[in-house]
Parts: sequence; structure tokens; C-alpha cells
Amino acid sequence: MKLTYLSAALLLASPLLQAQSLDLNLTNSMPAIEKLYLDLHQSPELSYHEQQTGKKIAAQLTKLGFEVTENVGGYGVVGLLKNGNGPTVMIRTDTDGLPITEQTGKAYASKVTVTDAQGATVGVMHGCGHDIHMSSFVGTAQQLVKHKDAWQGTLMMVAQPAEEVGAGAKAMLYEGLFTQYVKPDHIIALHVSASVPAGKVALKNGYTMASVDSVDISIKGKGGHGAYPHTTIDPIVIAARTVLALQTITSRELSPLEPSVITVGSIHGGAKHNVISDEVKLQLTLRSYNPDIRNAQIAAIKRITAGIAQSAGLDEALYPTVHVHEDESIPSTYNTPAQTNLVRQSIANAIGAGNVLDTPAVMAGEDFGLYGRTDENIPITLFWLGGVNQQKYVEAIKTGNTLPSLHSSKFAPDYKVALPTGIKAMSNAAVALFNQ
Ligand SMILES: [Zn+2]
Ligand SMILES: [Zn+2]
Repeated sequence: MKLTYLSAALLLASPLLQAQSLDLNLTNSMPAIEKLYLDLHQSPELSYHEQQTGKKIAAQLTKLGFEVTENVGGYGVVGLLKNGNGPTVMIRTDTDGLPITEQTGKAYASKVTVTDAQGATVGVMHGCGHDIHMSSFVGTAQQLVKHKDAWQGTLMMVAQPAEEVGAGAKAMLYEGLFTQYVKPDHIIALHVSASVPAGKVALKNGYTMASVDSVDISIKGKGGHGAYPHTTIDPIVIAARTVLALQTITSRELSPLEPSVITVGSIHGGAKHNVISDEVKLQLTLRSYNPDIRNAQIAAIKRITAGIAQSAGLDEALYPTVHVHEDESIPSTYNTPAQTNLVRQSIANAIGAGNVLDTPAVMAGEDFGLYGRTDENIPITLFWLGGVNQQKYVEAIKTGNTLPSLHSSKFAPDYKVALPTGIKAMSNAAVALFNQ
């Protein structure tokens, strides 16, 4: 009786162990994936304009047998593949490029330009590596279809637009991503890293990326002649005081144990040497992990700006206005620990434990975090896919030179190494989640 029980347990366990490390031979599939990467790289589209990109992803998924819906939340794509009974695993890529003129010097550099709202010509580039994400995503879909025998459940491939403006995840969720299609049990994504060597992956449990808020402050004054300041209330002086006072929110008001960034990224006021203007405009970015900290930042900004205006003698009607762009607000990304541990283990089995690094959290933001903050409370994991050419990485350490960051015109990931690593890591993570 005991023996029978044991052998049944072994039978159950053995396919699971095998499945957790898919031994992928990518030799035959990489040329097509690299070709796709180069095509995507050379045809980037800005946020809200990812129409052709969406079509390309949809065509790839359709070819693989997915049930595909296009134009979800803008130019988003949802692909579903049912493969027996089991959990639903959602894999997400983002699809948009950035208004950056590529200066990598690569033969395959993007030459795409668009005309911006002011009529100026600007280059467009996949400066955040979303082309790497999409190519790994398609490669992963291919491998999971090819190795259907290693997992059971529903594979949900989601290509999300408008990540760079914090709008795409929100728009797809708003259009019923979890209610009109299927509710995932697990959600995973990768982001290429500009500081981790290609061939490696880095990840962290818990908070891994910050929340992002854009805030506009309009500081009012009473303008007049620059030679008669006593007849005015100078908004430039109020703005100067305000910028300094804002520095005390993080340093004096919030717990030093809670990460918080308040950056004034733009300040505009006045038009001439001898004119005191009526208004100064500030643009801020706020970052944090804890939603309570985010709320405390905003409350403090409102209180401090109003207090300084009052001390300058302005009437309440002329107190500054503080506008939080709620439509662009994104929460922090919290990697669910239990799921992230499983993802880490499965990637280590696939690419070697030495190639899986721990990484500190960053104050950059990603709207991926939103998928883990819906009422459905679905576990999410985002991991970093190394993108830096190994030789350049070693040189940078030797010389102390900094490497081009994400969003740099010189960011050129080592795609030939990063792509197969991304496909192996993501395919194995998905299989582990299906089989846990
Ligand atoms: Zn980005
Ligand atoms: Zn990005």
C-alpha cells in the first residue's frame, strides 16, 4: 500500500521536474527571431501609435495558433491558447518606442522620424528596449507552442501599448482584460536592463520599481515693472522658495526608511529682464513604493505651496494650483514573493544559478505594477533581462565609464545574447507556473 502510494507520487513528480527545466534548442528558431527584432527596431512607433507593431505581433501569434484580439486598449493585442486544464499564465510585453534620435552607430539603427506637436522633426527609437521584449515574447510563444506537452492550462499573451506614458495597462484593464477574456492566475514580464550583462537575469522580491506621478504646479503672483518690485508679488521668488521647501518633504517629513523622490524637472516663468511675471510653472515627478508615501507627498506639496503663497501675501484666490495627472499615475511594481521565488528557481534551472542575480529596487517606474493591483489580486513578477554586451560591461568596470542607460540615444542591447536568454528564462518561468 505504502509502495503504491510512493510510486504514484513519483510518477506525478517526475514530469513536473522535467517540465521545470525545458531544454530548449533555439538554433533553428533564432534567425527568424533576430530578423523580427531588427524589423521592430527599425520601425518603432510612439505611444498611442503602435498600430503596425500591434499588427506584427498579432500576425505572429495567429500563425502560432493563438486566438487573437487586436486593438484592445488602443493598439493592444491579446492572444489566448488553451492547452487542457490548468492555470492561466499571462505573459506581457510592451510595444511602444520613444521620441529619441538613435545614435548607436549601428548599421540597423532606426531612421524613423515623426513630426511633433510643435512641427519639429524628431527621431523615434526603441530606446527602452521594448523591441527586445516583443522579440523575446514571440520567441517564448513559439517555444511554449512547440513544447505543449510540458504544460497544461491557458497561455495568455498580452502585447501592451503606451507603456511610456503610463496609459497602456490602464487602458487594457479598463477594456476588460481580466473580465472579457480570462482572469490570469499568474502574470510575468521582463524588462531589458542597461546595467546587467547579457546572458544574465536579475530580479528582486517585493517592491522592485517605483510608483510614478506627474504633477504640475502653477504659482501665481502679481506682475509689474522689474524696477518697482515693491508694487508686485514676484512669482519667481515664490517659486524659488517653493522648490527649496519641496526638498524638505522627503528629508524632513517622511520616514527615512521609506524611499521617496520629489524632483522638479521643469521651471518656467517670465519673458524679459525687466518684467516681473504673473505666473511660474513647475513640473515634478514623484516616486515612491508605498502608496501611503505617495499620498503624503501630494498632501505635503499642496500644503507647502499654499503656505508659501500665503506668506508672500497673496489672496487665497491666487494660491498655487497643484494638478496631479491621475490619468498617467502608475503604482509601484511589487513582485509577489512566492511566485517570484518560483520564477527565480526555474530561470536558474534553465540558464544556470550563476546567471541569476539579485538586484536592488529602482525608482524608475513601469505600468506593469498595475496588473498586480486590481481587485483580482493576481501575483505578478517582473524580471530584468541583461542587455549589456559582456565585453563593454567589463570595459566599463575597468575604466569607470558609465554605460548608456535605458532611454539613451546610445543604448544598444546585445540582442544576439539577450534574446535567447530572454526566451529560455520566460519559457521556463511560464512552464514552472503552469506546473506548480
Ligand atoms: Zn522606458
Ligand atoms: Zn520600458
